Amino acid sequence: MTRITAAVCTEFGKPLQLEEVELRAPEAGEIEVTLEAVAICHSDIHYAEGAWGGDLPAVYGHEAAGRISAVGASVSDLTVGQRVVVTLIRSCGACANCASGKPTICEAPDTGASPITRPDGTPVKKAMDCGAFAERVVVHHSQVVPLPDDMPPEAVALMACGVITGVGAIVNAGKLRTGEDVVVIGAGGVGLNAIQGARIAGARRIVAVDMTEEKLETAKAFGATDGVLATQKAPWKAVHKILGRGANLVAVTVGAIPAYDDAPRYMGWGGRMVMIGMPHSGAMAEYEPVVMAFMGQGMIGSKMGDVVIRRDIPWLADLYRQGRLKLDELVSGRWSLDQINEAIADTKAGGAKRNVILF
Ligand SMILES: [Zn+2]
Ligand SMILES: [Zn+2]
Repeated sequence: MTRITAAVCTEFGKPLQLEEVELRAPEAGEIEVTLEAVAICHSDIHYAEGAWGGDLPAVYGHEAAGRISAVGASVSDLTVGQRVVVTLIRSCGACANCASGKPTICEAPDTGASPITRPDGTPVKKAMDCGAFAERVVVHHSQVVPLPDDMPPEAVALMACGVITGVGAIVNAGKLRTGEDVVVIGAGGVGLNAIQGARIAGARRIVAVDMTEEKLETAKAFGATDGVLATQKAPWKAVHKILGRGANLVAVTVGAIPAYDDAPRYMGWGGRMVMIGMPHSGAMAEYEPVVMAFMGQGMIGSKMGDVVIRRDIPWLADLYRQGRLKLDELVSGRWSLDQINEAIADTKAGGAKRNVILF
């Protein structure tokens, strides 16, 4: 057992509380990582607000970077001292989905046993298989990827979620072909990375759709060729005008239902739509099946960019080191763990970029 400080959610919608908790040593297949950085993601905020339910007390946080400080039995490919990115993508490597290259939809059941307890023995949920709003984490070895020492911890942490979700949605789920046209709805954290993914994959035009001119300008800095305000009437008409036709690929990166309702209208003949943004549980969207059937269009959901982390994260880290993937530009603020509630409030107010807790 190690005594660590963690930011604990004790009641949905209330500020997180810094508590001293106990973290048990890594067991077979697990490692302990002493964190250097953890970014705040909108998913953490949705959970803390109760949008997706879950047990309490809980520790959120799932975009982390650190160094391995202990290795459990039967972990042979990782060593103490290695720099790693910690993700929430836990995969067994043996189920049908893992075996077919889709570890983000691993079928193995969650073990449920949390390594975190309060000093009185009460269990504390390790939310999203990470619990990274804490000084250390114990995670399954499949959740981490070693990365070079010369990357700043903030950049390493960002590779855990928003970056792979956005880039992967375009490249893996959307299977963008060079020269195709892309529309990215929402130029927030994931949207900016979808735009980067489309640029890296060689899109012809990349049209960002968002609510403010400011966000469209940011989108252009990340590779969007055009911007369209979602506040105008029928914004898809403006997109069709820019492209000369509908888009090959439409990425919905926000969880707003009006965005989902309108998204199919941006698609052209044979177009496809990737659903990335996650609305609250129970929210429904509408679409017109006859149009999709007649125009040969498709819709696909994408969780965590359909990534294979040991393939995709080293690739993206190398693009970053070459200056071809922007990560430093995604960081809006640096905070300490005891400022976490301020950092969360700032994320809720600001939106697009990431606030990072540094340890
Ligand atoms: Zn996230
Ligand atoms: Zn599996």
